[in-house]
Amino acid sequence: MKIFIDFDDVILNTKKFKEDLFGVFSAYGISREEYENSYYDPNDKQPIKTHDIEDQIRRLRKNNFFDEKSLRKDLENFFTKNTSHYVFSDVFDFAASHKNDEMCVLTFGNKVFQEKKITNSKIREHIANIIITDKKKAAALKEKLGNKKFLPGEKFFFIDDRTEQLRNVKQEFPDIITIFIKRPEGRFQEMTKNEYCDFEVHNLREAEEIIKSLTK
Ligand SMILES: [Mg+2]
Repeated sequence: MKIFIDFDDVILNTKKFKEDLFGVFSAYGISREEYENSYYDPNDKQPIKTHDIEDQIRRLRKNNFFDEKSLRKDLENFFTKNTSHYVFSDVFDFAASHKNDEMCVLTFGNKVFQEKKITNSKIREHIANIIITDKKKAAALKEKLGNKKFLPGEKFFFIDDRTEQLRNVKQEFPDIITIFIKRPEGRFQEMTKNEYCDFEVHNLREAEEIIKSLTK
């Protein structure tokens, strides 16, 4: 069995993480509106955007005066402290149930920023394999799997909270079982299950039930 699982809003409570990151900016007089408006590059036309903190600081600097050196120090502290408390509690049981399976975190985003988030979340202690990509996930999967033959009857799961990613992967790999996870704590409540999602779950306990029922 192979399981590829997304990071943001699936493993990490990214909504809470992003909220606390706002707290750092807010101490420097940045309003919520300014924070939200500067979070992504307004010229980034990708359907799923990547966040780059350096670019965000640059954008904020245009209209704001703040002690940049001090802000950077506070951000560095925020990013280097242990952020494992943002990891959803059901991740640990899920990872433990699959310690003998091929499990890999497949996450999309800015590589530097994502690497920091992942390292400080301590998730590597539970899931050793991590792929960070700034390309489509299907492309990253192709790269990872290459021409590797699947064992007959081997099940392959892909768990994500973004329907574009699920669609993209399902189109490239029709045999992959796609699980759309919509946590109540997730940032994208407007997303709805489509024909490319084989299942919809609300947490990893429900995902585990599906995996179990399909692999016994
Ligand atoms: Mg996600």
